[in-house]
Amino acid sequence: MRIDLDANATTPVLPQVLEAMQPFWSERYGNPSSTHLAGQRTRGAVEHARISVASLLHCSPKEIVFTSGGTESDNLALCGILQPWLDRKASGDIAKDEPAHLITSQIEHHAVLFAAESLERRGIEVTYLAPDSNGVVNPADVEAALRPHTKLVSVMLANNETGAIQPVGKIARIAKAHGAFVHTDAVQAAAKLPLDLSGEFKNVDLLSISGHKIYGPQGTGALFVRQGVQLAPLFLGGPHERQRRAGTENVPGIVGLGRAAELASTWLEGQDHQLLARHGQSPAAPIPGSQSPAELAARRNHFERRLLALIPGASINAADAPRISNTIHLRIDGIDAETLVITLDLQEISTSFGSACMSGAAEPSHVLVAMGLTPQQARSSLRLSLSRLTTDEEIERALEIIPAAVAQLRSVS
Ligand code: PLP
Repeated sequence: MRIDLDANATTPVLPQVLEAMQPFWSERYGNPSSTHLAGQRTRGAVEHARISVASLLHCSPKEIVFTSGGTESDNLALCGILQPWLDRKASGDIAKDEPAHLITSQIEHHAVLFAAESLERRGIEVTYLAPDSNGVVNPADVEAALRPHTKLVSVMLANNETGAIQPVGKIARIAKAHGAFVHTDAVQAAAKLPLDLSGEFKNVDLLSISGHKIYGPQGTGALFVRQGVQLAPLFLGGPHERQRRAGTENVPGIVGLGRAAELASTWLEGQDHQLLARHGQSPAAPIPGSQSPAELAARRNHFERRLLALIPGASINAADAPRISNTIHLRIDGIDAETLVITLDLQEISTSFGSACMSGAAEPSHVLVAMGLTPQQARSSLRLSLSRLTTDEEIERALEIIPAAVAQLRSVS
């Protein structure tokens, strides 16, 4: 059986999620915009999912816009805030030379970086902040980079490669005090960390999540848009999603995302155990695999410690940063990580070199290079990411296979 150590790339749809989606393909297929009963029943399911996502994020359902995934949510956030300003400039409403500024970081996912670069080509000033050697952006650097005309600050919550958690609460406070909007890409943080948009993240205006990173379906996602924030849509064609995202909703996908969000809330609150204990059941269901965030963290920590002990010349990238509890970014001196990923693949272990979305690219990871690693060190680094379903047995098998594969590669080079 293949061992999946690439959960930051994608996660399987949980059985409960699949079950919730099932009726919406061919039984309950009404268009949620139709006024008849079949349509209105589907509308009810979409709105139920909106409540579930809002409850995971501690915000109002009205503040949730369903999208096709993290990439669209990120693009909608950046372009939605800054495009109107470009439009006003083009129409002569504001002076041609009046500047607008975006602050982001060098470690963002390409969904943010490429959107920022596109805005830059269209006349927006962009600052790309460097992280420290642990892959963490310093709030003081955000403060120093603010300009009178900074319109938006976008810094991710957890990095997809290293797992490093960014001080977004602090960054948002600073940016807000300055009058800038704040976006965070929480694709890798959602369902791994508690996200409270009325507490710790009350200064965040826009937040992206993706369904397939939280045991929901691929091609689904959401953008939180705080009440009162004006956002220009990327798509035109209808009043869907309160004028913010035109197009008939992906109903089965949205229902799946909603169910995944409900399961994530339960899992984060550690309620699996309590619920099951109350019903006198064993804690093997309803969510298979790791029964609590603490257990997942303990499994990851054990795996990491053993890898370091078993592989000479191994170290952890971003070791001193606060990290999401499922990710290990392992650097192995003298090893070409891409070759190791292929070797492990042949032995039925899925891992990743660089970010999944860029696999196939020969360039070293932009995240690791931004942290100050040499291109060679970056090419010696691979990502191992556990899911809630990863078992102790899988970890023990991986601990036999990975060090042996490294030794074998070293013996032939
Ligand atoms: N942002 C981050 C941090 C990601 O890790 C990813 C996917 O890997 C995305 C955005 C893009 O999300 P999606 O695959 O849903 O488009």
